[in-house]
Amino acid sequence: MNTENPLFARMALIGIGLIGSSLARAARLHDITGDIGICTRRQTTLDSARKLGLGDDYTTDPLEAVRDADVVVICVPMGAYGAVAEAIGPGLKPGAIVTDVGSTKQSAIADIKPHIPDGVHLVPGHPVAGTEHSGPEAGFARLFENHYTILTPEPGTDAEAIGKIREMWEKCGAMVEIMAAGHHDQVLAITSHLPQLISYTIVSTATDLEDHLKDEVVKYAAGGFRDFSRLAASDPVMWRDIYLRNKDAVLDVLGRFTEDLTALQRAIRRGDADKLEDAFTRTREIRRGVIDAKQDFIDVKKD
Ligand code: NAP
Repeated sequence: MNTENPLFARMALIGIGLIGSSLARAARLHDITGDIGICTRRQTTLDSARKLGLGDDYTTDPLEAVRDADVVVICVPMGAYGAVAEAIGPGLKPGAIVTDVGSTKQSAIADIKPHIPDGVHLVPGHPVAGTEHSGPEAGFARLFENHYTILTPEPGTDAEAIGKIREMWEKCGAMVEIMAAGHHDQVLAITSHLPQLISYTIVSTATDLEDHLKDEVVKYAAGGFRDFSRLAASDPVMWRDIYLRNKDAVLDVLGRFTEDLTALQRAIRRGDADKLEDAFTRTREIRRGVIDAKQDFIDVKKD
């Protein structure tokens, strides 16, 4: 139990993988909560969390975990949201705040909201930070530092509840933005979901090449391919759920991307040097803008 002056008396974390365990560590470090209750599906994961000392009490029963919690943070794959929300709904105390860390926000609201009783506040969130690793051992307290966390509360959500979730993430070192869930899903489709899909595709294409060429690909894997292969090592269940739950926005950007790729393919076939140079000059400017906005890939380090 933390004795300082925490933001919450009790936090319940439903799911204690990379994101949940990072939040547990950051919550301890930054005096965000008094007690931390940890809930996960499998006993082996719960044992690991206990061994790591991530919480104050541990259970595989979501209903038990959320009793008396001032804030409940759902940190499971998006596909499990409906079942988790249904399980915790009856145990939520009046005035409690339910939030989450899921990568798609319209589906998060659709899956959680029907199970939230009156008097409980829903403030959906997405820390735009992560690694390709999973599980409670993979987390670290500084994961969220200098990264955005996007909150997508619906209009009319209690301002104090939004303020507390904002403060929670700011204490973790994150920069907090508030936007509509639909807008979040469109933005993340292009900045995160499409690049991930391309990574899966490139690594899969390389794997399908004949064996001798595959060896060469691995041997000479410098910058580009290595970055793609790192992304492609991310959790398959998490990403399966993201594509199924942000289908429309992903299909929209995928269509645009395919058109642009086809245009470059034609320019290469026709030997259109100007077209290629123009396209690459434009993207170079964009890249410089990303660096100016300090959203260059920060190599997050454990410590
Ligand atoms: P993770 O490391 O794989 O951990 C997942 C947690 O959810 C574990 O505690 C796991 O429990 C539990 N879980 C898995 N399937 C479940 C199910 N069907 N029902 C109930 N619990 C289940 O995952 P993560 O990377 O922390 O991702 C969690 C959430 O964060 C996802 O919604 C993802 O979209 C979001 N997110 C991830 C990243 C990232 O880079 N990883 C970044 C931002 C947001 P057991 O181990 O006990 O089975």
